[in-house]
Amino acid sequence: MTVVQLERIGKSYGSHTAVREFDLTIQDGEFLVLLGPSGCGKSTTLRMIAGLESITTGTLRIGDAVMNEVEPKDRGVAMVFQNYALYPHKTVFDNMAMALKLQKVPAAEIQERVGRTADMLGLTEYLGRKPAALSGGQRQRVAIGRAIVRTPKVFLFDEPLSNLDAKLRVKMRMELQELHDRLGVTSVYVTHDQIEAMTLADRIVIMNNGVVAQVGSPREVYDHPADEFVAGFIGSPAMNFIDFRRDDTGAWASVDGGLRLAALPFATGGRSELRLGIRPEHVVVSAAPAEGDFTALVRLDELLGADALLALEIGGTRLMARVGGTNHPRAGDRVGISIPAALLHAFDPATGRALERLTTGG
Ligand code: ADP
Repeated sequence: MTVVQLERIGKSYGSHTAVREFDLTIQDGEFLVLLGPSGCGKSTTLRMIAGLESITTGTLRIGDAVMNEVEPKDRGVAMVFQNYALYPHKTVFDNMAMALKLQKVPAAEIQERVGRTADMLGLTEYLGRKPAALSGGQRQRVAIGRAIVRTPKVFLFDEPLSNLDAKLRVKMRMELQELHDRLGVTSVYVTHDQIEAMTLADRIVIMNNGVVAQVGSPREVYDHPADEFVAGFIGSPAMNFIDFRRDDTGAWASVDGGLRLAALPFATGGRSELRLGIRPEHVVVSAAPAEGDFTALVRLDELLGADALLALEIGGTRLMARVGGTNHPRAGDRVGISIPAALLHAFDPATGRALERLTTGG
C-alpha cells in the first residue's frame, strides 16, 4: 500500500519559481500523469518525488514517511528515463541485475527476479546482448525491467516513450497499461503528449507555469475543463474559442459577426462579454443547411484519413470542424452548421475560468 502525498510542494531556482504549491494525494495503485507544455514544471515535480531535486517548500510523504531529506535510493522509488540511461558496456541481464547486486541480493534470487521480469517483457532472448544491439523499444523495455526487478513502491516515468517512433509509442503505451494492470504499483508519469495522458492515466494533472491548472480523470478534463488553458491543451485539433458580446435584445453575438445565440446554458452573471469554446468534433456540419442552422463557407478542407478537418467561415467568425472523411464538404462549398448547446463551453475572458453550466437555459 503506497500513497504518495505532496503537501504544498514548491521548487525555486533562485528567484525563479519552477513549481508552486503542488498539493495532491496520489492513491495506492493509481496511475497519475503529469501533463503540460515544456517548462511547466512536470519534470521538476517528478524529480522532487525521486529525490533528484531538493524540495524548497512543502512536505513529501511516501507511505507514512516524510521523504524531503531521504536519499533517492532509500525512497523505494524506481525511475524510468526518456534516454533509457542503460550502461552500454553491460549486458541486458547485468543492466537489470545491477541494483539488486548493489543491494547484495543472493545470486540465485537475482537470477530468478531478472529472469521472471525479462519473461514478462519479452526480453529473455536478449539477456546476453549489449544495449547497442537492441532496438529503441527493446532498450526502453530493459529500462522498465530494471525498475521492475527492484519491486519499488512507486514507479516514476519521465517521458519514457518520447524517443520512440509513433508506431512503437502506441505499442509501448499499451504494454505499459498492461504492466500497470498486472503490477498495480503506484505510478507517476510525465509527458507533454495528451494522447499518452488520456490513455494511460487514472487521473491527469495539467500544469501551467509551475501551477496545477486541473486534476481530474481523462473524461473530466475533456468534458469539463476548468479553464481556457486546459480546454485548449486537451483535444486535437484544439477547441475553437470565439468571443461573444451581448446585444440590445439580450442575445449573444460573435464579436466578428456571423453567429448569434438567443440563450446560453451558463451562469453568465451580469457579464456582457464572454468567450465560448466548441471542440472541432462537436460542430455539426450538414451539406444541406437545416432550419435554424448557420450558413458557413468552407475555406479549406484537409483529409486526414478517417476524418477530415474543415476551416469554416460564418460571417467574420472562423471555426474549425472535424467531420467524417467520406464524402466530406470541399473548399468553396456552403454548408449548414449547428452547435449543440450541451457541448459548448464558456469562459470568463478576463480570468480564463470556465463559467458554471446551468441545468436549465439562461
Ligand atoms: P517540464 O518538465 O514541464 O518541461 P521543468 O520541470 O523541466 O519543465 O522546468 C520547469 C521550470 O524550471 C522551467 O522554467 C525551467 O527552465 C526551470 N528549471 C528547471 N531546472 C532548472 C535548473 N536546474 N536551474 C534553473 N531553472 C531550472
